[in-house]
Amino acid sequence: MAPFVHEFESGSKEQKDLLGGKGANLAEMTRLGIPVPPGFTITTDACRHYLAHGEAPEGLWGEVEAHVATLEQRMGRRLGDPGDPLLVSVRSGAKFSMPGMMETVLNVGLGDAAVEGLAHQTGDPRFAWDSYRRLLQMYGKTVLGLDGDLFEDAIDAAKRARGVTADVDLDVDDLRGLAARFQEVILRESGAPFPQEPLEQLRAAVVAVFDSWNSDRAALYRRRERIPADLGTAVNIQAMAFGNRGADSGSGVAFTRDPATGERGTYGDYLPDAQGEDVVAGVRNTLTLADLERIDPASYRELLEIMARLEEHYRDMCDIEFTIERGRLWMLQTRVGKRTAEAAFRIATDLLEEGVITEEEALSRVTGEQLAQLMFPHFVHGGGAEAVATGMAASPGAAVGQAVFDSDTAVRMTQEGTPVILVRRETTPDDLHGMVAARGILTSRGGKTSHAAVVARGMGRTCVCGAEALDVDTRAGCLTLPDGTVVRQGETISIDGSTGEVFRGEVDVAPSPVVRYFEGEVDPQDAPPVVRAVHRMMEVADRRRRLRVRANADNAADAARAARFGAEGIGLARTEHMFLGERRAMVERLILAEGDEERQVVFDELLPLQRRDFVELFEAMGGRPVTVRLLDPPLHEFLPDLTELSVRVAIEDERGEHSERDTALLRAVLRLHEQNPMLGLRGVRLGLAIPGLFAMQARAVLEAAALVVEAGGQARPEIMVPLVGDVRELRAIREEIDAAAHEVRVAHAVHLDHLVGTMIELPRAALTAGEIAQTADFFSFGTNDLTQTTWGFSRDDVESSFFSRYLEKGIFGVSPFETIDRTGVGRLVQIAAWEGRQTRGDLKLGVCGEHGGDPESIGFFDESGLDYVSCSPFRVPVARLEAGRCAV
Ligand code: PEP
Ligand code: MG
Repeated sequence: MAPFVHEFESGSKEQKDLLGGKGANLAEMTRLGIPVPPGFTITTDACRHYLAHGEAPEGLWGEVEAHVATLEQRMGRRLGDPGDPLLVSVRSGAKFSMPGMMETVLNVGLGDAAVEGLAHQTGDPRFAWDSYRRLLQMYGKTVLGLDGDLFEDAIDAAKRARGVTADVDLDVDDLRGLAARFQEVILRESGAPFPQEPLEQLRAAVVAVFDSWNSDRAALYRRRERIPADLGTAVNIQAMAFGNRGADSGSGVAFTRDPATGERGTYGDYLPDAQGEDVVAGVRNTLTLADLERIDPASYRELLEIMARLEEHYRDMCDIEFTIERGRLWMLQTRVGKRTAEAAFRIATDLLEEGVITEEEALSRVTGEQLAQLMFPHFVHGGGAEAVATGMAASPGAAVGQAVFDSDTAVRMTQEGTPVILVRRETTPDDLHGMVAARGILTSRGGKTSHAAVVARGMGRTCVCGAEALDVDTRAGCLTLPDGTVVRQGETISIDGSTGEVFRGEVDVAPSPVVRYFEGEVDPQDAPPVVRAVHRMMEVADRRRRLRVRANADNAADAARAARFGAEGIGLARTEHMFLGERRAMVERLILAEGDEERQVVFDELLPLQRRDFVELFEAMGGRPVTVRLLDPPLHEFLPDLTELSVRVAIEDERGEHSERDTALLRAVLRLHEQNPMLGLRGVRLGLAIPGLFAMQARAVLEAAALVVEAGGQARPEIMVPLVGDVRELRAIREEIDAAAHEVRVAHAVHLDHLVGTMIELPRAALTAGEIAQTADFFSFGTNDLTQTTWGFSRDDVESSFFSRYLEKGIFGVSPFETIDRTGVGRLVQIAAWEGRQTRGDLKLGVCGEHGGDPESIGFFDESGLDYVSCSPFRVPVARLEAGRCAV
């Protein structure tokens, strides 16, 4: 059987599946000769076995003991040795980074005897007792699951007794007392004493890390980040390096470029006399790397050299965790660092320009979702609003909402439809649900690497952290501004994650510079760096992509914007809106019409109106193809509400004001009423039930095209029939369309090419696509209805009903209405694409459901050989970028 334990020396950064991200990168650094405290990694295989069977795999503990023995030999110290003990850290490390979501236990190996040995060996009893009380605290909270406040309260009491406010001001006697109190707490609350045997501590800590994979917050984080639930975590066991050994020691986190803006230059936080957890938890405000240069120039220089090496080796921005123990630098972690959308674009283009990476690599390092984030609006500056405080610009964006001071309230108010800003002194992993719910996050403590900042950046949430001038009182539910005024829960505040500014009240927002660039309003060469970076990446994506991008647009303004944003045509113009407003009355008359003649009168009135609509679309698209979909929704949607109309007729009759028209209308509404309108008289069925309706629409499209061509323009009409399930439906409608086309050609004497195609949005259509293609020039997949009818989920109800349960249970990781269900709905798409092309090799294939703008789904459509995706105008740049990424 493959071993469950790997020494750092034997692994590499490619082995993230087995060793987790942290383990693989510790191995990589070890192999590069970078100073890493020695240790080993327990594989994700072992974790998965534990999670499946509730017990560690056979042989695991034996392997661990053997590797501990090797480590002891190398370090010349033994775990629990009362003379000179070895201490180890036990850290989680999954394949994908889940900052702060899982557990860590430090200082494992200490006990009542070993602590004395450590004190003696180091000549620093305060340090030894501080390490011990930390172990007891972490063990109690993490391994035994005790309430963390039991320990925090004891620390607060000790500080009060000593008359100090900071942990570092507690002396050795205080810490010794705390260790005793913590042991009492453990005995009282868990019913068993703290285990003095180091291997027992170690095993329990490993199991606690395994278990933390399934903690609520880890599960929630994975769902958000779409990390599979069955990967499990690796566990890293490593000799401790101590950052808490006085002023010449400390811990820090650093980035090789600014993770917020992408700017070149190192960036980091450093906390003297502290362990790593203190930095990330944001419990004390940190110093900068420049401060470290002053405090310890030799370590600073070495750190910078290592950072340069790591960036060169990984060919990307890296983040690192380091510890300095009495002037000696140790690297505890590195990985390709999380970054904001802005930083992602800037770093990718900078590395491209620096010749470090290729165009393909640059493109693979930015995502459509990041581009979408950059298209969000931001605050109007200089609009009179004055910042009441400034913190760190931790995660960009402009967020306005009511201040709330705890995560449960943030979730509740968001569910009630109120936008909120979560305000905390610092956040912990327990705040994840509140951070997900809130528009933005504001903290008064912690740096750019604090939990709040890291998590907010990861999920694209606006965040300002470390706004020290604010006095946040979460218990009282308020914050006090520097001028002494108080902001209470429910008051509106605005935070700017790009500048770190905090405003009282609501600040106006302006469009993003990236949107202004797409609108053609700014020259990318004179624009902010992020715009130049986006411009460069779009240029690469457009040059490389195979998939074309169209827009869903049904009026001139949307079509024109789509064209500016780079749409190569309209993939779906829904004609429904052309039947609303004042035209509703015509629809009513159409439904009430008795016989062809009466109906024709209405068609004659509707035709010129529709024609004008289509002329505008063709003009806006300037010769690019325009797919017009014939009327789709059930007719009752255009009629008055049944209840309202019934009441109106009843009142009229009672007053003796009987209206023949209203009564007829009520009869029609009753006749057309359906229990399941989505499965009822709509789409092609409507076209067949009301003879002449689709022919009129087709004529309007073709006449519009003819008019545009006559005027010297270009028009490429594509007429699309919705909700077809059988080729005979399409054939019947196609005959009407082709007859209309012939008449228009004769009447206008212009050359006009038109296509007739169908939506594929019913399973039956997909399964008989070979036949349907005999009559269709193109298919456009209506994946909204196809998802609805394949799953049997009502697209209008389901997301507010049981979907959250399905997501919780992991039945799917994301709504199938958002991201294409590859194996079910996607399979129908692939069958239809393949069979359609068997019949007609040049069959054009596109998609116009919401999935056409979803990055993940775009990859699937590219793989499936579709010609284009069509999405809302604002998603067009996102789709262009994603289509480019598919090609690399
Ligand atoms: C679809 O069903 O995917 C589609 C594009 O049509 P609509 O959303 O208008 O039903
Ligand atoms: Mg549809």
